[in-house]
Amino acid sequence: AAGGEPVLEVDHVSKQFRGLKALDDVSLTVPEGEIRGIVGPNGSGKTTLFNVISGLYRPTRGRVRFRGRDLTGRAPYRLARAGMSRTFQNLRLFGDLTVEENLLVALDRSGTSQSWRYLLRPLSVLRRDRDLHRRARAVLERYGLAEFAALAPKALPYGIQRRVEIARAVAAEPSLLLLDEPAAGLNGEEVRQLGEIVRSIRDSGRTVIIIEHNMGLVMSLCERVTVLAGGRVIAEGTPAEVAVAPAVIEAYLGD
Ligand code: ADP
Repeated sequence: AAGGEPVLEVDHVSKQFRGLKALDDVSLTVPEGEIRGIVGPNGSGKTTLFNVISGLYRPTRGRVRFRGRDLTGRAPYRLARAGMSRTFQNLRLFGDLTVEENLLVALDRSGTSQSWRYLLRPLSVLRRDRDLHRRARAVLERYGLAEFAALAPKALPYGIQRRVEIARAVAAEPSLLLLDEPAAGLNGEEVRQLGEIVRSIRDSGRTVIIIEHNMGLVMSLCERVTVLAGGRVIAEGTPAEVAVAPAVIEAYLGD
């Protein structure tokens, strides 16, 4: 429930690329069970923030704590094993594998007790793992994807591919899910379904942080919104609060 222990604490994080400060002293705390929106004009640092949180970038300054542990700069796979999962703005599915095989790979790589050898089992072995298949099927059914199990993602409509990517990210049973512009390229009905999926993910006990340009979705979905501009947090509050904040209106006028 909202108001729980913080799942994520970003503490005075800066990220510098040569002369450019992509993130400038950013702090935010996300409690367990919240759906947090991250919004801001293009180039405001949203994706850089996700890259720092998920371990792709080491921050120039500051710390990232996940479930109470300082995991600043840990490799992405270690954060994934600790319970963090993400999607990318551009889909990163294995286009030539089937939908189900994409899930097999994701499930095989999740969990905390596996050795590297197990982690890197070849697909031919995964295909024969009955337990893994059962788990993959369960995820596909939960997300209305069972009918696409044997098809390659690249043969599917874009909205379905998006859903596969979210299902794959959730298959690892993360406590924190980071979604980078999940509504991009979706039609109105698909956006509505996406909202239901994200709510159901939260209701199953996970915390969600979502970068999103679709303000209708942000307003209806997020308990709180953090607004970035020029690499800084310029506002934070309920969607209704930040929508009328003068700093936010000013930042968007220049976009
Ligand atoms: P947003 O996701 O809000 O559109 P980004 O986080 O992608 O913003 O980018 C913030 C700023 O950091 C931009 O000016 C961008 O060009 C710059 N930037 C992002 N990643 C890199 C990188 N790997 N190298 C250099 N500059 C980068």
